[in-house]
Formats: sequence, C-alpha cells, structure tokens
Amino acid sequence: MDFDALFNEQLDALKSDGNYRYFAELERKCGKFPKAANHADDGVRDVTVWCSNDYLGMGQHPKVIDAMKEAVERTGTGAGGTRNISGTNHDHLLLEAELADLHGKEAALIFTSGYVSNWASLSTLGSRLENCVILSDAGNHASMIEGIRHSKAKKVIWRHNDVADLEEKLAAIPADHPKIVAFESVYSMDGDIAPIEAILDVAEKYGAMTYIDEVHAVGMYGKRGGGVSEELGLAHRITLIEGTLGKAFGCVGGYITGSAALCDFIRSFASGFIFTTALPPAVAAAARVSIAHLKESQFERAGQRRQVAKLRAMLDAQGIPHMPNDSHIVPVMIGDPVKTKMLADYLMDEWNIYVQPINYPTVPKGTERLRFTPSPLHTDEDIAYLVSALTVLWKQCAIAHQVA
Ligand code: PMP
Repeated sequence: MDFDALFNEQLDALKSDGNYRYFAELERKCGKFPKAANHADDGVRDVTVWCSNDYLGMGQHPKVIDAMKEAVERTGTGAGGTRNISGTNHDHLLLEAELADLHGKEAALIFTSGYVSNWASLSTLGSRLENCVILSDAGNHASMIEGIRHSKAKKVIWRHNDVADLEEKLAAIPADHPKIVAFESVYSMDGDIAPIEAILDVAEKYGAMTYIDEVHAVGMYGKRGGGVSEELGLAHRITLIEGTLGKAFGCVGGYITGSAALCDFIRSFASGFIFTTALPPAVAAAARVSIAHLKESQFERAGQRRQVAKLRAMLDAQGIPHMPNDSHIVPVMIGDPVKTKMLADYLMDEWNIYVQPINYPTVPKGTERLRFTPSPLHTDEDIAYLVSALTVLWKQCAIAHQVA
C-alpha cells in the first residue's frame, strides 16, 4: 500500500483549503526578545515576533537563564527516568511546593506540558470516578477535550461562558453522580475571560468539582501571578487549577494544584504522569525562579498591560478592528484563511514582522485571524511600526473591516 499517497491526499486537502500549517523557522535571540532571526529560502534576517506566548519575556530573563545554567551544571541535562523510577529530583519537589504556594493550595503536581496535565488529569478523574459527568465549556482547549474523551465519562458541553446553560445542564444530572465543571479563565484565541464567580456559584450549588485551565493567565494576572482566580480572590473556591510553565513563565511543562488528596490521586493513577520521563531538573529549577520572580515583581505585568493598551489604542486610531476583550490577547479578525496567510506573509516579507496566521481547526472556519500578544519588551517603536504596516496592508489588500 502506498501510505505516502494516503498521507498526501489529506495534506493536499489542507493546502487547498488554506489550512495547511507552515512553520516560520526562527532563531530566538537571547536577551533580545521579542527579536528573532528568521531563516527563509532567501537568507536570514531579523524579525520582531508578535505572536509569542512567552508573554512576559521570562524565557530570556537573566535570572531564569542563570538558574537553568546553574542547574544544568549541577544535575545534567535530563531527569534520567520517570518520576517513579529515579526521575524525581529535589528541584521537582521545590517547584511543586512553589506552585502550591502560588495558588494557595495544599499540593501541586508537574507534568511534561500543559497539554499532558489537562489530558492526564481529566482522563484520570473522568475514568476513575464512577458515574462521573464532565461539563465542558464549548470553547475548551483540545487537551481538555481529548482528556475527557479518553476518560469515556459522560460529557456534557455547555455554551461558551453561558452560566444559565451550565446551570440547566447541571440540574439535569442525578444529584449522586460526581460532576466536574471544566473551563478556562482566559480563552487563548478570543482573549475573553470566563465569568468565574458565577460558574463557581452554580457548581457549588450542585456539588460539582471545578477544574480551571489558567494556562493563559498564570504569571500575568493576580498580584503574585496566580492567574485570574487570584486576581478575583476566588482561588480557594476552585478544586483544581491547571497551568503551564511554558508561556508567561518562559520554560516548558504543565501542572495542577489542589488538595493533597487530589494531587496524590492523579499522581497515583494518571498514565500521562506515571509512564513518561520527568521534566529535566534544570527546567524545574528555571521555572521555579521565574515563578518566584513574578510573585514579587509587578514590573513585567505592568509593562505588558501598558503595551497592550498602546497597541489597542493605535489600532483604534487607524480604524483597524480588533476583538474587544479584557485580556492581553489582541485578535485582529480577517475571516478568511487565504487572506490571513497572505497578510502574514506580507508582514514577514516586506516589514520583518512575524505573526502566525491562525486558522481552522485552532479557530472556527470564517474567524481566521492574526493574534497579537504584546509583551513588556515590545518597544513603543515596535508598536508604531506594526500599526503602520497593518495600516498600509489594510488599504493594499482591501480587507473588509470585521469584528466578530
Ligand atoms: N490549555 C490551553 C488553554 C492552551 O492554550 C494550551 C496551549 N496553547 C495548553 C493548555 C497546553 O499547554 P502547553 O503548551 O504547556 O502544552
């Protein structure tokens, strides 16, 4: 059988729909974030990155780099095993204690990515709690969807951020069935924020456990970077808070926090935790320093907010529509995959600006967009340059102004 022909058939379909994923080959420039070198067929040149999830530039913070270097010298490059079999290092335990403290919880558990933490935790909870029903926000991330699917628990999808719909669905489930309400705080593509307090109110009314993904919020919201749940003083009411070390904290890895029993339960039963090599201790050490820094320092968060507000104001001044939201994510809606890619190519080729086109299935068809994530390290000049490029392209490409 010609397997390549089978693969190419589906790849060609993606290409003709404009949904094929092209990578930009970047070389991050240490200490110069958000600048990077772009390797393309016609050579290498410097670009400004406008779509990084290293939201605060912590991936190149001198303290975090030093912590990783020191830990590599001390512990080597890898963990050398799964957490159960030789892979649990002192640095992992220090990191878990730091995370539990960040969220005011009894315990924390780290995973090799945020994706794995969601997948492993939801699949374990849903499969091991008898008669469990998982109520999942319609906008939840693929890692939560896949975890729920793998658990084989009954899944009920509630309309995105619609608490009345959630309540109706909770009320229809027998009282003695364990229920988990799973949702995010900041939704990554629209940048909208969940009505967390109202969700907690109805979840508590029906005795449901609450599971929040704060991947796009940890480090950036709350006085200590504990996420939107910290900012709103609600963390103590949430059963499980999940986060990543790979975005605002600038490293890689994921985690959950909650009660000691909950973390021990996931630790004991989750195959995605048990049967995989532990994070390199040096990553754990660097992540801990990044978290500890952002617990104290308001500098990065304040700088990010300032630059987000500046970008929005300058887009408004030029009549370039962006989706309104209360977060740091600035989506500029295009609504067509081919045009979105064309604009991104123009920005890269003619302006040395890199923003990845966001297409289906990451977002629904017809809502293709450019998603900008200003950091405290984007200068005022970077912002002015980006907006002048978009202004020119908007006219050149006759983009119909749309806001979803
Ligand atoms: N949850 C959400 C909401 C995400 O957007 C992502 C990744 N973009 C993840 C989880 C996975 O996190 P990680 O990148 O650490 O695997």
